[in-house]
Amino acid sequence: MARILITSAIPYINGIKHLGNLIGSQLPADLYARYMRCRGNEVMFLCATDEHGTPAELAAAKAGKPVAEYCAEMHAVQSDIAKRFGLSFDHFGRSSNPQNHKLTQHFAGKLAENGLIREVSEKQVYSNADGRFLPDRYIEGTCPNCGYDKARGDQCENCTKQLDPTDLINPRSAVSGSTDLEVRETKHLYLRQSALRDDLDNWIDSKTDWPILTTSIARKWLHDGDGLQDRGITRDLDWGIPVKKGDADWPGMEGKVFYVWFDAPIEYIACAAEWAEANGKTDADWERWWRTDKGAEDVQYVQFMGKDNVPFHTLSFPATILGSGEPWKMVDHLKSFNYLNYEGGQFSTSQGRGVFMDQALEILPADYWRWWLLSHAPESSDSEFSWENFQQSVNKDLADVLGNFVSRITKFCRSKFGEAVPEAGSYGEAEESLIADLTKRVRAYEGHMAAMEVRKSAQELRAIWVAGNEYLQNTAPWTTFKTDPDRAAAQVRLGLNLVRLYAVLSAPFVPDASARIMAALQSDDDSWPDDVPAALTALPGGHTFTVPEVLFAKITDEQREEWETRFSGVRT
Ligand SMILES: [Zn+2]
Repeated sequence: MARILITSAIPYINGIKHLGNLIGSQLPADLYARYMRCRGNEVMFLCATDEHGTPAELAAAKAGKPVAEYCAEMHAVQSDIAKRFGLSFDHFGRSSNPQNHKLTQHFAGKLAENGLIREVSEKQVYSNADGRFLPDRYIEGTCPNCGYDKARGDQCENCTKQLDPTDLINPRSAVSGSTDLEVRETKHLYLRQSALRDDLDNWIDSKTDWPILTTSIARKWLHDGDGLQDRGITRDLDWGIPVKKGDADWPGMEGKVFYVWFDAPIEYIACAAEWAEANGKTDADWERWWRTDKGAEDVQYVQFMGKDNVPFHTLSFPATILGSGEPWKMVDHLKSFNYLNYEGGQFSTSQGRGVFMDQALEILPADYWRWWLLSHAPESSDSEFSWENFQQSVNKDLADVLGNFVSRITKFCRSKFGEAVPEAGSYGEAEESLIADLTKRVRAYEGHMAAMEVRKSAQELRAIWVAGNEYLQNTAPWTTFKTDPDRAAAQVRLGLNLVRLYAVLSAPFVPDASARIMAALQSDDDSWPDDVPAALTALPGGHTFTVPEVLFAKITDEQREEWETRFSGVRT
């Protein structure tokens, strides 16, 4: 038994995520977590909401709520949707929780002790009306280059010119619209990432089993141009983790908070501490996952994320950990995804384009989405959601192949033998050949799942379902029954055992359907088929079952057209 720590990139708090976000990290992470649990491993699967920063403050202001209240509500919403999608987190935490405050302050203290923090004085725009400093992109005005009147302090969206806030003509606060702005001096802390370059380089060099694409992205950031840059870790905001050195105050940093990029990944660790508290465990219980001096030396740590997050997970977060000089667990495997597009364009949260997680569940159960998204995961390149493809895939794979197999064999058995596994007859050549084929395929499926090859896993699973259908088609127990009822009994017995095998193998992809099949089979034997021939005798003659309700309804053309129209516009 192995111990596997899994984290999914943590979703930002300001709103419900779309299906592109879901397949970009949380869903494949769930597939892997479920599979590793099925194989008897000890799994810790963590995710959380990323709650700090100006966008959260602005979203709360827009909703007319205090930011803490807004974040608490949105966390509950995201947590509920995650559950309904079957995301099997051991804990779904919050980066605003006390555990993350404590750990973030701890890391900053250690980095300071190790000489890796420096203070920098900066000039920044202060809004008197808002009583706060404004990040560059929250200052608007007229572009000096093209005259566009909604240019932001960092860039003009219209002509794409990079700007400084002081370049803008008639600058105003994007928060309140006030023009009462002034430039003030403020002090910030910088993490000396440049001083950690050799450590990071050596660490990346040690990752010989990582994809070249991943290590080359990291090396590019480390070496291109002036190399890895020092980076600000504090902000002049109210909402966030107060700047402290461990438990101690940080003179000169009063009223400031850590920058969200610094505290968000530390939540991966803090989330385990939250898990311990929520489950009545001790610090030692979570530390054995994260501290290599406290039991985590045999942990395999796997991170799931979108491709845009790779530099962050290969450099920024490791810089924090390495710089602390403490024996924290670092990532072993990193699985990144490209983008899922929507009907010829991009999914977009800001523009409300595409299908969002709550809307998806309003029209179909989670398994339908899970199957489509995972079997079309954007692994080697971007992939595209279209309603037509979704309809085809659901109807063919889930309804015609898996659903039809389960329905056909259970109904046929009921009509000829009753609702119990028939005892007569024995397996012949066709059965032995199918079992040999399935043995090979199950081993291939395991290989792909272990390697986090999501699409290949889905293809192999589908091939396993197809093999059963073909067997049924070729042996035709409904015909055999007329001339040789004992032989038909053996065929049906194998068919019913295949149903159980499919439920077990498919559970990581379609957990609800799998549970419904197991309930109908009245079996609680969900052990993994290490021995496929033995697994196909798990339901003995005489074992009773019921015929399950329809597992997957087909998507009709009318439904597809209705949804195409409904989701063609913009979410308001
Ligand atoms: Zn412009």
